[in-house]
Amino acid sequence: MLPATLTTSPCQHCLPFKRQGFSSEQDFITFQDTLDEECRNGLFIRIVETNTTNEVESFYQCTFCNKEWELSTPNYSWRGYFLPKKSNALKHEGNSSFKTFQWKGKNGCGCCLGMIFLIVLLILYVLYNFFDFLLDALF
Ligand SMILES: [Zn+2]
Repeated sequence: MLPATLTTSPCQHCLPFKRQGFSSEQDFITFQDTLDEECRNGLFIRIVETNTTNEVESFYQCTFCNKEWELSTPNYSWRGYFLPKKSNALKHEGNSSFKTFQWKGKNGCGCCLGMIFLIVLLILYVLYNFFDFLLDALF
């Protein structure tokens, strides 16, 4: 019942570009140049998307099989990749919840935990002072 177009596999034109990781920054730059050249040749169409975290994501669509490829830029220990993008339905469904979760995890949680910790410390300090005051008042 599912449309067959969702499970398109890469064709012979774009499959050779598949990369699981780049060995160096130079390797990535060379690869990106090759991709740009293929865009000029008409093999790929470049699609640039900005997601909720303001990271620019580059996608390339193969003009032969319409397969979308995702280019991940390497930085530090991250090797990057050039792999077929997950099917649109899956990507969008997972995207919103995952990105929201990731945002909380990255920016919210550490800050939140620190705040909670400070509040707990403050409450303990206030309680300690209060009991100290009570004891002083009683005895
Ligand atoms: Zn293709």
